[in-house]
Amino acid sequence: MTNKSITLTDSLYDYITRVSLREPPLLQRLRAETARDPLAIMQIAPEQGQFMALLVQLMGAKKALEIGVFTGYSSLCVAMALPPGGKLVACDVSDEWTQIARRYWQEAGVAHKIELHLAPARDTLDRLLHNGEAGTFDFAFIDADKTGYDDYYERTLQLMRPGGLIMFDNMLRNGDVADPSVHDEGTVAIRALNEKLLHDERITLSLLPVADGITLALKRSDA
Ligand code: CA
Repeated sequence: MTNKSITLTDSLYDYITRVSLREPPLLQRLRAETARDPLAIMQIAPEQGQFMALLVQLMGAKKALEIGVFTGYSSLCVAMALPPGGKLVACDVSDEWTQIARRYWQEAGVAHKIELHLAPARDTLDRLLHNGEAGTFDFAFIDADKTGYDDYYERTLQLMRPGGLIMFDNMLRNGDVADPSVHDEGTVAIRALNEKLLHDERITLSLLPVADGITLALKRSDA
């Protein structure tokens, strides 16, 4: 089978960002600040954040969910794209990283749209379900511990409205998913989830080779 996706050389990537990336100065600063952290690799690509904002606007999303905040780049992209009165429920376990996020949410004037839950995401999602919020979310982004993705997915799918969209990050694991010699537990978990999603009749599916691979799962109305 022929590879139909274009190979991204460094120069082509530079070109794409030059002609399409509209990163506000605040997001540029957050990215620069995060880049000084050894875990900076956990930050999403700026063009991915811009794409998420586009999806949120496209859907007219009002209520969003994020699992895995880190220093807040993606949450900022989503919160800025939400309408006035929109809400983002953000889940993370790190007080330290989300302090950076909270500082930028304040500065961007979107802190009032974001409800941060510093607790294991499974507990937060269970609480949302318990509180009767099933079927009420428009958009969700899952970008946390890879072995937890399947649990997060099952709970998040219940929380989505029909036609709601779930985005998963790192679904290509820097190419490791297609390398049979790689067996770390994160890669094994993502491979299993990719196979599960392929056959999951509750969703409409697309896996895009953007950044480290993003999967879009649209909840079907009969799910
Ligand atoms: Ca990620």
